[in-house]
Amino acid sequence: MTRLPEIGVSLISLASLAVLVASSAAAQQDLAKQPPGLAAVPVCLNNKGETVEFSNTGGGRAGLAAGMAIRDGNGNPVVMRSNYSTAPIEFQQFIDRHECAHHQTGDVDRPHPPRNGLEHLMNESISDCVAIRRLRDEEGFGKSSFEKVAAALRTDMAKIGFPESSIASRIRNLSGCFENPASARDLVGQVLGQRDLPQQ
Ligand SMILES: [Zn+2]
Repeated sequence: MTRLPEIGVSLISLASLAVLVASSAAAQQDLAKQPPGLAAVPVCLNNKGETVEFSNTGGGRAGLAAGMAIRDGNGNPVVMRSNYSTAPIEFQQFIDRHECAHHQTGDVDRPHPPRNGLEHLMNESISDCVAIRRLRDEEGFGKSSFEKVAAALRTDMAKIGFPESSIASRIRNLSGCFENPASARDLVGQVLGQRDLPQQ
C-alpha cells in the first residue's frame, strides 16, 4: 500500500469507491422535517465558509444508503442523502461527514479527476479519514461505533460486488485514521494548504 505520510492517509484500492457516490440529482429537497430513523445532520461548512445543506432523496439504488456532494441548480453547496433509512445511524453519520469532507476540502469546486484514477482515490481516502475523525472527536465514537461503521461499509460494498481486497483496504485506511490522534481539522488544513485553497 502506498503511504502518503504528509497527510496521514493511505490509498485505498481501485474499486472501493462507488459505494458512497451513487444518487439521483433529480431529488426533492426535504429539509423541513427529519423523518424518523434518520441521523441529525452535522454542521458543515465548505472551505469558502458557505453552509452546506443536507437533503433527503428517494433516488439511488434501492436498499443502499448513499450520499453525493454537489452544488445544486442555484449554485448552493449540498449533500444529497439517498436511502438513509436502510442504514444504521452510525453509518448515516459517516456518509454525511464523508460527503461534507468533499465540500471542506474543495473537491466539489475542483475539476473532477478521472473516475478511479489516483487523484480520485486519494480524495475518497481523505474524505473517509476526515469523516471518521469527526465522529471520534465530535460525536464520541469509540471502538464499538467504529465497528458499526466498518460493518455497514463492508456489507454495502460486498452487496455491490467489491472484492474482499478492496473492502479490507478501505477499512484498513479508515482504521488507521481512527487510531491516529490527528484531527479532521488538521487533515483538511493540510489538504487545503497543498491545494493552495482558501481556509475558513
Ligand atoms: Zn466520496
